[in-house]
Amino acid sequence: MTFRTRFAPSPTGPLHLGHAYSAILAHDMARAAGGAFLLRIEDIDQTRAKPEWEDLIYYDLSWLGLTWDEPVMRQSERMDIYAAALDKLWDRDLLYPCTCNRRDIAQAASAPQEGAPLLGPDGIIYPGTCRSKPRMPNHMCARPKHTALRLNMAQAALADDVFVPRLGTAGVAAFEEKGNGEGIPRGLIEFTPEDVAHDIGDVVLARRDMGGSYHLSVVLDDAAQGITNVVRGADLFDATRIHVILQRLLGLPTPVYHHHRLIRDENGKRLAKRDDARAIRTYREEGLTPSDIRALVGLSH
Ligand code: GLU
Ligand code: ZN
Repeated sequence: MTFRTRFAPSPTGPLHLGHAYSAILAHDMARAAGGAFLLRIEDIDQTRAKPEWEDLIYYDLSWLGLTWDEPVMRQSERMDIYAAALDKLWDRDLLYPCTCNRRDIAQAASAPQEGAPLLGPDGIIYPGTCRSKPRMPNHMCARPKHTALRLNMAQAALADDVFVPRLGTAGVAAFEEKGNGEGIPRGLIEFTPEDVAHDIGDVVLARRDMGGSYHLSVVLDDAAQGITNVVRGADLFDATRIHVILQRLLGLPTPVYHHHRLIRDENGKRLAKRDDARAIRTYREEGLTPSDIRALVGLSH
């Protein structure tokens, strides 16, 4: 199978050195493998995405000397695909509406005797408040729009093909990790339903104001683009188990993952979207060249 990877920025601010590292690394890996490098604009959150940031992404990447092999995929043009996947999960009773706000969740998750609430890849692990509220079986009513929907992880773990039974466990799911990020284990990463219940919980797959969540769109888009190798920052390693579960539920292939090291500032802090000082545009305006940027992120030719 040929190597196909992608760079998937959100047009919510300028690309900075961390994005440059991610894009150049993925691009160079694809070129070295004789494979394809694709671009996807993750503009599912229409309240934050701006056309001028999208234009700057094209400009910055071209300036860096990166070319992509197929037409750009834009999430805002795929909302019907996300809706169809939500309908499928809804009809299988794997989703439930959640009306909690952040404060409700924080309060329910931090009962005094339990100490600080546990954090998962999406923030506080959802304490399950809305899961057991009485309601009609899903297949008897249409999927509600403009309501947050959560994945019932316990239910998902029971679905065929998500966890493969293995003696002495409640089943195992896995993905292959080849990244170089700090603290990222390499090789076959296995996890069980207990791990997922404890570390992740019922994640949001549709937001009240948005017809899908990052987790849902990323698995559908990677599959639609035929991605064999996902190259992205180590900060997304923990979310990968969510992605594997969704791939299994939706009958999609699981790519190989390369969670790479994060570019940090001189104080060791991760670069933030708003860090204009390290925006590629700023370096360009200060007279740096694309090879200077490669040198700054440790990816010289
Ligand atoms: N859109 C995400 C970001 O800009 C990247 C998601 C991914 O690579 O899976 O952080
Ligand atoms: Zn709720």
